[in-house]
Amino acid sequence: MSRHIIRIRGARQHNLQNLDLDIPTGQWLVITGVSGSGKSSLAFDTLYAEGQRRYVETFSPYARQFLERMDKPQADRIDGIPPAIAIDQTNPVRTSRSTVGTMTELAEHLKLLYARAAVLHCPGCGRPVRRDTPQSACDAMLAEAGDRHPRAVVTFPVMLTGEVSRASLLQVLAHQGFDRVHREQDGRLEVVAGRVRLDPARRERLVETLEVAFQVGRGHATVWPEASGQPPWRFSARLHCAHCDREFKEPTPALFSFNNPLGACPGCRGFGRVIDIDPGLVVPDPTMTLAQGAVRPFQSPAYRECQDDLLRFAAARGIPLDRPWAELSAAQRRWVWEGEGEWEDGVWYGVRRFFDWLEGRAYRMHVRVLLSRYRTYRPCPECGGARLRPEALWWRLDGAGNEPGP
Ligand SMILES: [Zn+2]
Ligand SMILES: [Zn+2]
Repeated sequence: MSRHIIRIRGARQHNLQNLDLDIPTGQWLVITGVSGSGKSSLAFDTLYAEGQRRYVETFSPYARQFLERMDKPQADRIDGIPPAIAIDQTNPVRTSRSTVGTMTELAEHLKLLYARAAVLHCPGCGRPVRRDTPQSACDAMLAEAGDRHPRAVVTFPVMLTGEVSRASLLQVLAHQGFDRVHREQDGRLEVVAGRVRLDPARRERLVETLEVAFQVGRGHATVWPEASGQPPWRFSARLHCAHCDREFKEPTPALFSFNNPLGACPGCRGFGRVIDIDPGLVVPDPTMTLAQGAVRPFQSPAYRECQDDLLRFAAARGIPLDRPWAELSAAQRRWVWEGEGEWEDGVWYGVRRFFDWLEGRAYRMHVRVLLSRYRTYRPCPECGGARLRPEALWWRLDGAGNEPGP
């Protein structure tokens, strides 16, 4: 039995007539047919029913009583079926924020799962960001140091603040037994927790020293290999990329919800798409020339003035008026679209500013109608349609990111 195919043999639910079918998983699949041909019997009463039934069977008898029980569909056998969710036509899509995830409440579970189990990947270098422990830091260092067993200094950071003088801070540290500063930079003291040899035989001492550094350094420790000219290794018990020396916030479930301001992509406010002027609607026929009226919105009597402006400025710039739009150079088309400056400055303002100006007058009904004719939805350029802010998309489960939901 292949894991990637659902095998149905002898399905007879309702009007299905002994149907044999292999359905590949992991892709979109559309079931079509005339009314009464058994589409719903296959999708809802066979596939969904069997998926749900087997899923429910994995729970204890106690838990099962709270779950929707489905009758076993009429079929000789059904193999390879995963847990199923279904959204039928009677379940209206209420808002443009509705997704399969929100309608089935899967999104609620996913945001908890991501907050607990996902792994952060540093946007700077792509490496997984894990919390270091003295043990994991020790393992990483020993692996890095290899057979040379170099000596190293383990430090923890102490920030100089205006509240306490440097002298009294050093005094407090000295009282605790830390009387040496390894480095000082930008108000940050690297205080020596101990000197070690990066040798597996001395692992215990290494872990102890790191424990001290983590504790006093509030989760931060730095290891400076001696006399190798190598950059220091930074470790953190917090979410910190040692490679980029960048710290990240702890995740919360809200971060993984596009219906929450904390999680929603700022570019599209969690809609996954943005509305914008569609160049293909503005110039619907690229075989037309500027003189023939390639730019459609300028052809209505109300905006004839813009067509006149375009032709006048284009002629002055040597942009051919009698060449089809498709044959103009990319730079010439960009000139038409982006313009040269503001209308007030007496230069070509461009199709873009024309629409910006219209947007400012969208309180008028006929302007709104006009705008809607040239607008189109496109995937949000900031999140690529994933609806979530970048900080959320850095988290991945088992290598998978928050892909745009269907
Ligand atoms: Zn990094
Ligand atoms: Zn977005």
